[in-house]
Amino acid sequence: MPELPEVETIASGLASFVCGRKIQEVRLISSHMIIGDEIIFRKRLKSRIIRNVRRRAKLLIMDLSDPVHLVFHLKMTGKVWVPGERTDPNKHTHMVLALKGGQDIFFEDQRKFGYVAAMTPEELGRWSFYAGLGPEPLQIESEEFVSIFKHRKARIKSLLLDQKVIAGIGNIYADEALYLAGIHPCSVPSEISADKLAGLHNCLREVLLAAIKAGGSSFRNYRNALGSAGSFQESFLVYGKKDHSCQQCGCVIETVKVSGRTSCFCPHCQEEPPAAK
Ligand SMILES: [Zn+2]
Repeated sequence: MPELPEVETIASGLASFVCGRKIQEVRLISSHMIIGDEIIFRKRLKSRIIRNVRRRAKLLIMDLSDPVHLVFHLKMTGKVWVPGERTDPNKHTHMVLALKGGQDIFFEDQRKFGYVAAMTPEELGRWSFYAGLGPEPLQIESEEFVSIFKHRKARIKSLLLDQKVIAGIGNIYADEALYLAGIHPCSVPSEISADKLAGLHNCLREVLLAAIKAGGSSFRNYRNALGSAGSFQESFLVYGKKDHSCQQCGCVIETVKVSGRTSCFCPHCQEEPPAAK
């Protein structure tokens, strides 16, 4: 699933191509990806100017004139991109936005878990998923991060994945940051020192910023706004590295399930908390 760095990369890539452009035509190839009424959806997009493209958590948001917010959740395999000339929609293309002056935006999704909605500012504000999102990890100070986590009694990995606690983090960057911070995925924050939690925030920032710089991780089918792959997957230290050697100590990387998600960790660098043993 595209996480914070991937969606950020898509948003900034799209912005340079589509900001200031007018949506001339809305072609819906399959309308089941739309949340809400199709007629209203079309009406809200037609002839609008794309003012801005941004990210909130893992959501990709285009702010249109009037104003309307065109909100995409890419889920597992969703892609929003601007193909080069002479690219035809394929069987995974669900929507094409034709821009005035000749540029298309494609919304594709192989597994069809993604969705798109056209919302007024009031609707976006009332949407419980959006209103309930936790803070952005790159926009808060370490003190706030520590205060969010320090009294929590759930396992740290589950909390990092919980979009209501902190936004935009998924399996990849949670595993990488926990490894860098030397924290076991089953650790409970209320038993972790404030210094170590602040260290986790630093590691999270470090890994997210490095991944944005690398254009995201193309672990499965993620592509940026121009259809190119990112390269941060080449820098993974633990994610997807089961049975590989830890780069710090040489121990074999292991996995543990936390909230149904596989977590990769080094049993030496990330010591198991006493309660989990
Ligand atoms: Zn190690």
